[in-house]
Amino acid sequence: MPSYVNPDKCDGCKALDKTACQYICPNDLMVLDKKTSKAYNRDVTMCWECYNCVKICPNQAIEVRGYADFVPLGASATPLRSSDSILWTVKFRNGTIKRFKFPIRTTPEGTVKPDGGYETKGSLNSPALYTEPASTGLAEVFTLRH
Ligand code: SF4
Ligand code: SF4
Repeated sequence: MPSYVNPDKCDGCKALDKTACQYICPNDLMVLDKKTSKAYNRDVTMCWECYNCVKICPNQAIEVRGYADFVPLGASATPLRSSDSILWTVKFRNGTIKRFKFPIRTTPEGTVKPDGGYETKGSLNSPALYTEPASTGLAEVFTLRH
């Protein structure tokens, strides 16, 4: 079931050049209607329900309806992200509400080093991954040679 935007909650990310949901969607599906300042999913058949847009929306305006066999109609799961945790509010069909809070990182925001502190050679022509061979502890990455 694809994502959908509740227009009553969406504020178009306050007219930023790119909205949060546009920025995060790995399938480039979210579009901002400039006339209404509301976002929408432009091709619901391409949505793989990854929940990225749901989690990043600052207004909790996006929902993904779960399939009816495991999320009955009337039930919902809504995340609220902070800088170090995510709070899921799960509403059951009978109206019961439960909340679960999970940590989402072990380091402060903005402190992660992409190279992990390893020396990088950074050649796109190399079959090695970004931090290899340093992160493998080997002198070189062994590959099939032609
Ligand atoms: S991230 Fe949320 S508030 Fe921002 S444009 Fe998308 S749906 Fe609207
Ligand atoms: S659920 Fe994932 S694939 Fe679907 S619109 Fe949101 S970010 Fe894109």
